[in-house]
Amino acid sequence: MIEFLPTKRVIKETNIDFNLLSKICTSIFEKGFDKKINIKCKVWKSKVKEQSTMELTKGRCHYLMDLDTEGNRRYVFSTILHELRHAFQEYVFNFTTVARFASYNAYYNSKEERDARKQEKLTTEVMKIYDSFKKAEEKFKRFNLKELG
Ligand SMILES: [Zn+2]
Repeated sequence: MIEFLPTKRVIKETNIDFNLLSKICTSIFEKGFDKKINIKCKVWKSKVKEQSTMELTKGRCHYLMDLDTEGNRRYVFSTILHELRHAFQEYVFNFTTVARFASYNAYYNSKEERDARKQEKLTTEVMKIYDSFKKAEEKFKRFNLKELG
């Protein structure tokens, strides 16, 4: 299971249901990689403007995402998918980097950044699944499906 553990502040500022997003990501990526993925990912608000990062904090499974929450909804979802890919680079591919780049271009064109941007391509679909799920939850309440008849 991929489990996002956001701070109250991140929840408040993004208004994202991270329990639901955890379930969606778990389904997509466990199916995609065809294996169980056990990642616990704390999500904190990034202190650096327009920058998000992901780091392994202990063992193999505990990550910390510093998330830039200042953009629009689509930006936040795509950033989460991007940063999650950095966790997969280590967790799934055993690909670790401690590279320091000489320039922004070197960083932008590096293997890990190109690879992470690739996962952003799922943003539209993940948001659609997320929004449909939320709408179904609302309808369940609106039509009072908890009650019989
Ligand atoms: Zn990146």
